[in-house]
Amino acid sequence: VRSLGRPPAWVRVGPGDDAAVLAVADRSLLVTTDALVDGVHFRRGWLSPRALGERAYRVNASDVAAMGGWPRAAVMALEVPRGTPTAILDGIVAGFVRAARAHGAVLVGGNLARGPRLAITVTLLGRPGRRIVTRGGARPGDVVFVTGALGAGAAAVRARRGGRTAAFPAVPDRVAVGAALAGIASAMIDVSDGLLQDLGHVARASGVAIRVAADRIPLAAACRRLPRREGLTLAVAGGEDYELAGTVPRGRRAALQRIARRLGCPCTEIGEVVAGRPAVRLLDASGRALHVARAGFDHLRR
Ligand SMILES: [Mg+2]
Repeated sequence: VRSLGRPPAWVRVGPGDDAAVLAVADRSLLVTTDALVDGVHFRRGWLSPRALGERAYRVNASDVAAMGGWPRAAVMALEVPRGTPTAILDGIVAGFVRAARAHGAVLVGGNLARGPRLAITVTLLGRPGRRIVTRGGARPGDVVFVTGALGAGAAAVRARRGGRTAAFPAVPDRVAVGAALAGIASAMIDVSDGLLQDLGHVARASGVAIRVAADRIPLAAACRRLPRREGLTLAVAGGEDYELAGTVPRGRRAALQRIARRLGCPCTEIGEVVAGRPAVRLLDASGRALHVARAGFDHLRR
């Protein structure tokens, strides 16, 4: 946003990355905020209050993980419709606190306000890990990776829209993985808007082009059960996966797989960084470009 102007020097990383980085008495602090709004990011009936609280924490922790950091403290602003039972609010907070505790992070404040629909806005502060990884460090020759598998959330949205029941997947906890990857990654981002779109942010911030091999994308089980093209579309364009995607120098590929084994989290090589106009291209096995429409969560937002 242009009107924000040029930040002062103690803002080490300003708006536009997964989290901002502030220098605090010679130390840096990661800062991020994200909201969950009923009807936009979730549907009330899809998640228990506890699962909703956990999700509110994890989507924010995902941004801290994408910078290689550790969550420390959070504040939560709850907006609730009149007549919402106290048990629902208690459940949201309990789910949040429990998920935060897994990282030694604490909820240090909050606000409760009446509103037309349930909305949970969280601001999370984090401590940098061994290195702060931004979206801007990818270089030609680097290998592109993604953690876990993609498309489970989008496939669940699709199933429910079709009137079928489908378990709504929890947001994965990639904080420890992100901190380990920070030792080797040249750039990193969390997959919130869909793999191709999020890698587009990396391409622009780094000034490089990215090629992704369609047949290397790790598909969630629910996507593997769908017709190939449909499952692939949900996996690369569905969004709300909260896996980590990024780049590592070619010489760090073995280290990437060591981290994957040590932490029990698949880190799949899915493509490469090349010189060129910032763009992301999805290629089939014979090198032809595939075009996919936006899918999954986008329909929930509309
Ligand atoms: Mg992010």
